Amino acid sequence: MKILITGGAGFIGSNFVHYINENYDYEIVVLDKLTYAGNKDNLKEIIDNIQFIKGDIGNENDVSNAMKDCDLVVNFAAETHVDRSIEDPSIFVKTDVIGTYNLLEHARKYDVEKYLQISTDEVYGSIENGSFSEKSNIDPSSPYSASKAGGDVLVSAYHKTYGLPILITRSSNNFGPYQYPEKIIPLFILKAMKNEQLPVYGDGQNIRDWIYVMDNCKGIDTVLNKGKLGEFYNVGGGNEKTNLEITHMILDILGKSEDLITFVEDRLGHDRRYSLDSSKTKKLGWEPEWSFEDALRETIGWYKKNKNFF
Ligand code: NAD
Repeated sequence: MKILITGGAGFIGSNFVHYINENYDYEIVVLDKLTYAGNKDNLKEIIDNIQFIKGDIGNENDVSNAMKDCDLVVNFAAETHVDRSIEDPSIFVKTDVIGTYNLLEHARKYDVEKYLQISTDEVYGSIENGSFSEKSNIDPSSPYSASKAGGDVLVSAYHKTYGLPILITRSSNNFGPYQYPEKIIPLFILKAMKNEQLPVYGDGQNIRDWIYVMDNCKGIDTVLNKGKLGEFYNVGGGNEKTNLEITHMILDILGKSEDLITFVEDRLGHDRRYSLDSSKTKKLGWEPEWSFEDALRETIGWYKKNKNFF
């Protein structure tokens, strides 16, 4: 079996490459553009076991080279940071929509056995009470989530129109090793270690549902093996926390003062709460295994050991 993992040098993608390398005897091809968020060193220990191709999912030759002879495709490649999408949406549309289109066209051409698109809970938008199921409407708020939603509907349409064997996972916020320090958990860990101020948006009461990246990798693996083709699967950790709670926990574990907290002007279109109902994925036999606190301690331990990684 040969698997193409696009965006495999990024945060979740590299964790998934490690996971597949440990658990399967597959030939692994990684296609990654190595943007600011991608780092070949994320794969350093296993680089000789895989085929690494530096390239763009939007480029026909790069995708053709990477995908030919592959049985499985898992697409993690994306622009992913909401703040950057507010500054400049164009690269988000290019990669997350047009790049996805290019992958789908090649998946048809090479007749792949399964194509799994990695998406996000952000496509559903904000929810005050209750949780989003896979049947909920999409209602994205930022250019990032809108471009991810664009990718999702294209993937789904390729199933309906051409019968392409696709699956889509939508996970909640991930944290863990190898995450580029621009998102709240790695950013605040590294800043707190250096006694720098931690900039909390607005009143800090925005709620996210957190999942440890290894639990997401297992969820993706479960969907890839047992999911019904053409379907969407939510993969949530079931750990809803406000940004302020996360900040306090990081400071507490690191033994740092709360004086490091600074409230800053809120992000434009900042969604208040994300919440996922993951019962459909749980019916396939998946369950998150890590408690939030253990996973946060593990993650902080990794950043302490790898202070100079980024
Ligand atoms: P990331 O930003 O850490 O990594 C993205 C990777 O894609 C990088 O290695 C980058 O170099 C690569 N890439 C970007 N543009 C590319 C292109 N045009 N061609 C080839 N490679 C390209 O992202 P992440 O946090 O690991 O997220 C991976 C996927 O999971 C994304 O699709 C994201 O939407 C989704 N997701 C992330 C989270 C999260 O909390 N991080 C939550 C839910 C869903």
